[in-house]
Amino acid sequence: MFIAFEGGEGSGKTTQSRLVAIWLRDQGFDVVQTREPGSTKVGMRLRAILLDSAHQGLSSRAETLLYAADRAEHVEKVIRPALDRGAMVTCDRYVDSSLAYQGAGRELLPQDVAKVNSWATGGLVPDLTVLIDVPPAVGLARLGSPADRIESEPLEFHERVRREFRALAAADPDRYLIVDGLLTQEEISGLIQDRIREILPD
Ligand code: C5P
Ligand code: MG
Repeated sequence: MFIAFEGGEGSGKTTQSRLVAIWLRDQGFDVVQTREPGSTKVGMRLRAILLDSAHQGLSSRAETLLYAADRAEHVEKVIRPALDRGAMVTCDRYVDSSLAYQGAGRELLPQDVAKVNSWATGGLVPDLTVLIDVPPAVGLARLGSPADRIESEPLEFHERVRREFRALAAADPDRYLIVDGLLTQEEISGLIQDRIREILPD
């Protein structure tokens, strides 16, 4: 089973994907907890390029392809092998991040971003995507001063990202759980566990 976590900056995806991984391991599941970008050897180098503030003005198409390259390597080297041996995979960010950041954020055609990513992943789609939704002003304030190239984008950019995440989730309620990221950590993890329980194998 493949569970992706999505959301804007400072939404708490990393914390929640870690809590889910711990909870699933406690039940005896083999769990691979991973994240994008940067969970492979080459991916770590791509992450460094992508987030370096020295690369302000990187072409949006190049950015899209680099995230897709990171994802292709991630799927082939980490996610697919884990799923093939029957493990649970929790992944902090996946294709929807590209639809939101490069599609809506960079204002590229969504169908182009979708096509590139569908090719990059070999069509691998999560069984469940958890969207942790927070107003960007709140998420960015949690992080403090912007640490990377994307966090430094203006608020309107992050508002477009948020709108796209919400639209993607609203369009496919069977495959998404939208959680209010302003709830407490415990409340959020409770809601996520309730939803995952429904789809766990017996
Ligand atoms: O989740 P994390 O903060 O580690 O992600 C690293 C950065 O990459 C974030 O600032 C995020 O906005 C950015 N990102 C992006 N497009 C993606 C995936 C991540 O701009 N497709
Ligand atoms: Mg970040």
